[in-house]
Amino acid sequence: MAETIVVVVGAGVSGLTSALLLSRKKGYKITVVAKHMPGDYDGEYASPFAGANIVPMAEEKEKRWESQTWKELKRLVEEAPEAGIHFQKCHILHREHDLKNPAGFPVHAFSPTPWYKNIFDDFRELPKGQVPDGYDGGCEFTGVCINTTMYLQWLAGQLLRNGVVLKRGIVADISEAKNLSHTGKPASIIINTTGLGSFKLGGVEDKTMYPIRGQVALVRNESTPMVICSGSADGPGEELYLMQRAAGGGTILGGTYDIGNWDTNPDPNVASRIMSRIIKIRPEIAGGKGITGLSVIRHAVGLRPARKGGVRIEKEKLDDKTSIVHNYGHGGYGYQTSYGYAEAVVELVEDTKRPASKL
Ligand code: FAD
Repeated sequence: MAETIVVVVGAGVSGLTSALLLSRKKGYKITVVAKHMPGDYDGEYASPFAGANIVPMAEEKEKRWESQTWKELKRLVEEAPEAGIHFQKCHILHREHDLKNPAGFPVHAFSPTPWYKNIFDDFRELPKGQVPDGYDGGCEFTGVCINTTMYLQWLAGQLLRNGVVLKRGIVADISEAKNLSHTGKPASIIINTTGLGSFKLGGVEDKTMYPIRGQVALVRNESTPMVICSGSADGPGEELYLMQRAAGGGTILGGTYDIGNWDTNPDPNVASRIMSRIIKIRPEIAGGKGITGLSVIRHAVGLRPARKGGVRIEKEKLDDKTSIVHNYGHGGYGYQTSYGYAEAVVELVEDTKRPASKL
């Protein structure tokens, strides 16, 4: 059987997961080409900055992506501890004000009756006595927290094991990817997983892409359960969340959800407000010593790659012999939807091989 030559552009969670699922099928020679690779820290590369956890943010009609991904993340915790994902209780807290005046995280995640209550085995509403001051209600379930540094490396390792080749490269126009396969042969499939890069990537230039700036602090202190709030008293875009990463990955203190802001430099005033909010809701994280009791590893900013209208998951023709499958625009939910969208990529790629397929 002739082999199908595939070039994946992008090595964030979307590109690596798409390449992984495709590499489990027979008949593909896959090359991943990217400007940034696991191990890099750059504001243009969203994946290392995520918490990351799963708090379904889609509307119910879009629940496929998060439901499919949850099953796989759960399996990885149980069967692949080296992936750097662990189970952790999660508290989701809401204020009526944020549900009525959404200005930050998507509000579906904070609904008092969310569709996702059916996918978590131990979902329960929090009794009033367990809802902190300033919040109107909440729920609890066992979710996961991903040590993204470890997990991205694990994904890359799985690819190498499956014969995928990883290469550094900056692609100016998506059509260039056709000639970037390690085989030296032209690619018949290009998978575009460039995230925010799709805003200026030639041949794509998707001006519906925009950043949602996320500033976080990574600390050595540990604290559970995870907590994610619908907003904070510090105003729109000033969020409050905490996630203790698996396997010594530290604890992420968040954060901000600053729509349209491209600035990748951490702001010290914002950092101070993030830490103060955490200390107020969870003083025990710093042993009662306040901000000075936090042992900071780094303050950092990542840009969530958002897209008006949601993720672009579709294929188009580049020329008679080459198709492009797009998978970008995952905003603040790229991990928790990663397997759902990667499965869709595989379906789109397999479809191009069927003689009667229409593009
Ligand atoms: P990216 O990770 O940005 O990767 C893009 C890739 O494309 C990179 O390898 C880049 O180098 C490459 N590239 C771009 N342009 C070019 C080019 N021209 N040539 C070659 N290569 C190119 N998600 C969750 O599910 N749960 C969370 O808890 C969560 N928390 C978050 C917190 C913060 C602070 C942030 C910033 C994000 C968070 N997210 C979370 C969102 C998640 O991180 C993103 O949705 C996800 O990482 C997007 O992955 P991606 O692979 O599509 O893009």
